[in-house]
Amino acid sequence: MTEPVRGRWGRFGGQYVPETLMAVLRELEEAYERYKADPDFLAEFEYYLRQYVGRPSPLYRADRLSERVGCTVYLKREDLNHTGAHKINNCIGQALLAKRMGKTRLIAETGAGQHGVATATVAALFGLTGVVYMGEEDIRRQELNCYRMQLLGTQVIPVTSGSRTLKDAINEAIRDWMTNVENTFYLFGTVCGPYPYPLIVRDFQAVIGRESRAQCLEQEGRLPTHLFACVGGGSNAMGLFYPFLEDEGVELHGVEAGGLGLATGKHAAPLHAGTFGILHGAAQYMMQDGDGQVLETHSVSAGLDYPGVGPEHCFLRDTGRAHYHVATDQEALEAFQVLSRLEGIVPALESAHAVAVVLRMAGEFPPDAIVIINLSGRGDKDVMEVRRLLEAQSQPLEVAP
Ligand SMILES: *Cc1c(COP(=O)(O)O)cnc(C)c1O
Repeated sequence: MTEPVRGRWGRFGGQYVPETLMAVLRELEEAYERYKADPDFLAEFEYYLRQYVGRPSPLYRADRLSERVGCTVYLKREDLNHTGAHKINNCIGQALLAKRMGKTRLIAETGAGQHGVATATVAALFGLTGVVYMGEEDIRRQELNCYRMQLLGTQVIPVTSGSRTLKDAINEAIRDWMTNVENTFYLFGTVCGPYPYPLIVRDFQAVIGRESRAQCLEQEGRLPTHLFACVGGGSNAMGLFYPFLEDEGVELHGVEAGGLGLATGKHAAPLHAGTFGILHGAAQYMMQDGDGQVLETHSVSAGLDYPGVGPEHCFLRDTGRAHYHVATDQEALEAFQVLSRLEGIVPALESAHAVAVVLRMAGEFPPDAIVIINLSGRGDKDVMEVRRLLEAQSQPLEVAP
């Protein structure tokens, strides 16, 4: 049930791209098929994950959070990775693939800036030219990440079209790719885009689930009962879920960005409020109006502010294998503070959405449940934005008793 057939998971996925890109996608698919089972390639990937990223990331038993929730809760600490989130796993893999394919230039798009930073990082690491497209609105929200990319030697190109966020940056990056296919590798940041990207990104991120599985067996002597992860494009969630897909006793829960609430239309929850369509080269649930125009999305977290969602998630939703929830901006802000105070861990606002749903479900889990929350990133990048938002709500931090 889990592997795509001719580039599709059910009716989702595929390759809806201009003709000029079909040959490039075929080249990528062939290269990936060849290297994904190549022992030298895999050994090099594992080497960099261990020595450079700092893997394996801990599976941390969060005791005070567990007490609050009413069962055992673990945090998969992707926030401790070099560069502060899960995105580096995928970037190392794709950069190694680019090198094997003889490409010298990496291009990418970025929303929160995390994927841009991870791309700029591997460009520096492997001596490749880096170019990152970033919406002007996201540059404003994530100024520090933007400067960090430049510091790493990557050129950041501001995108001023549309809503000046991630979806517009992707369009520009695809345009660049079409004109520079000879030497350029498009490093896609999540499990979206035309096939084979959803497969490649999932496989490189599946290290999260493989480690979690082994760590839970070692620490608890059994598999977890519930997995939770936030869903933007869906890569950290797919990476966690994938190695558990065949384990029927393990519930899979994804959390979309509810923004100001589903009823307001200001959210980024295509699995809840989207319709079937084509976005960035793939069929999926997406936010569009009656004329097929892509709708502007809203989320407090730039990394979840995306109108589409990976084809495999769409398939897992329709088959009922995975369950999806929404958490609003407000719930994420609250979870951000709760986790900071209960565990001394400041999560990324994206990850706070997953924490929020587990907090909301407190008391509903069987006492012997083992919940794993994927802490996809750390919150340093969000501290100033959270402060601004809380002060605007005249909710400055109370001093803890
Ligand atoms: C980018 C990002 C996300 C969302 O992307 P996915 O592909 O859905 O994982 C989530 N958390 C963090 C910390 C991110 O940087």
